[in-house]
Amino acid sequence: MVALSSQGHLNPMLRIGKRLVNKGLHVTLATTEFTVTACSNLPPSTPPPPPFCFFSDGQSLNYDRMANYESYKKSLAKFGTINLSNLISHKKLSCIITNPFLTWVADVAINHGIPCAMFWIQPCSLYAIYYRFYNKLNSFPTLTDPDMSVELPGLPLLHTEDLPSYVLPSILFGSLPKMFSEMFQNMKRYKWVLGNSFFGLEKDAIESMADLCPISPLGPLVPPSLLGEDEDHDRGVEMWKAEDTCIEWLNKEAPSSVIYVSFGSVVVLSAKQMECIAKALKNSNSPFIWVVKQPDLPEPDGFLEETKDQGVIVSWSPQTKVLAHPAIACFITHCGWNSVLETISAGVPVIAYPKWSDQPTNAKLIVDVFRIGLRLRANQDGIVSNEEVERCIREIMDGPKCVELKSNARELRIAAREAVAGGGSSDKNILLFVDEIIESCV
Ligand code: UDP
Repeated sequence: MVALSSQGHLNPMLRIGKRLVNKGLHVTLATTEFTVTACSNLPPSTPPPPPFCFFSDGQSLNYDRMANYESYKKSLAKFGTINLSNLISHKKLSCIITNPFLTWVADVAINHGIPCAMFWIQPCSLYAIYYRFYNKLNSFPTLTDPDMSVELPGLPLLHTEDLPSYVLPSILFGSLPKMFSEMFQNMKRYKWVLGNSFFGLEKDAIESMADLCPISPLGPLVPPSLLGEDEDHDRGVEMWKAEDTCIEWLNKEAPSSVIYVSFGSVVVLSAKQMECIAKALKNSNSPFIWVVKQPDLPEPDGFLEETKDQGVIVSWSPQTKVLAHPAIACFITHCGWNSVLETISAGVPVIAYPKWSDQPTNAKLIVDVFRIGLRLRANQDGIVSNEEVERCIREIMDGPKCVELKSNARELRIAAREAVAGGGSSDKNILLFVDEIIESCV
């Protein structure tokens, strides 16, 4: 398996690895040497299986990869191709599973005559949208008709605000759309496409791809503890140290009373937006845990002092433990796919605040397909007002839809567990994949 040096990419990949090992395969995860410095708990403390191996991306360890992302990607493709090839040239491999953002890995696999599987890390619905968009199979908004709604098989009607960034005519430049275009027009390079989802969650979107370019969901690939499986020390790799003390604080709170707020590892909110969220949390009078990665929290009206008995602010939380805690009532999230799968597996309803990439579509799925949440609406300045945040908090904690949202969330939690349990849809897909790999070797 080859993964990008990012927590949200490495962890689901590690969990696929573990499931494959449990079915009898030997698995190694290759990633860049930089990952060792980026993650606080890589080997030896990360429990095997699968073991890691590392290749150089051609840059020094202190090179700022995010600040120079465009040139870094070129260097990664150039040196990754050479160094990964060297790494695997003396190994007998029957399959390479790769992250979709590392398109060059498929070429390395082909050059070595090894079948390649792509592990799609966003919802299967996004895979279906991008496949149709980049192969020009359906109509999407254009510069002359930017507000058209998009009708696709297996998906609800998508308005502009529901579409992923990389199909919008205003964003169709830069390296990512180019990479997606090249990838989705050359899907024959992949013998398998694996997804981090489960059939019951995205049935219609998955079925809509069956005759085009099928995707096989193996998930949800979240920590086993969230799925009622043995903890097995699987906390995944961590790029930031989690503040575990918030769990002790949670232990003292009433069941289903706490609002959990996190916008993931990449999204940065403006000071004005932070202020609105702070006001809304304070006015809700509900206990809260708020993950604030920025070094400075704007402090409207003495927020920190006034809420010191109401909530806690952490720079990074043990999110899956927080979501699994009985005190959590709802999750205000940017709708990153890992966070969505984690909240589904924990049975926690959602207030969606999507920003970009797949997040707007994930929010649409949360509200209209999974039916486990509400979506915050921004005003004309692109800011979600404190009144709007308060309205959604009231609605989800105690409003007319509260019971239905909670009950839907509980049902999906059960469905997620059933999918990964022995004989469940994802478990069967893993077995099928393993059988095909073994067959291709004999
Ligand atoms: N996460 C965490 N602690 C935090 C915030 C996030 O452990 O305080 C984890 C979260 O459990 C998830 C990942 O970081 O697994 C974020 O991935 P996601 O796809 O949701 O969003 P991204 O960070 O890629 O935008």
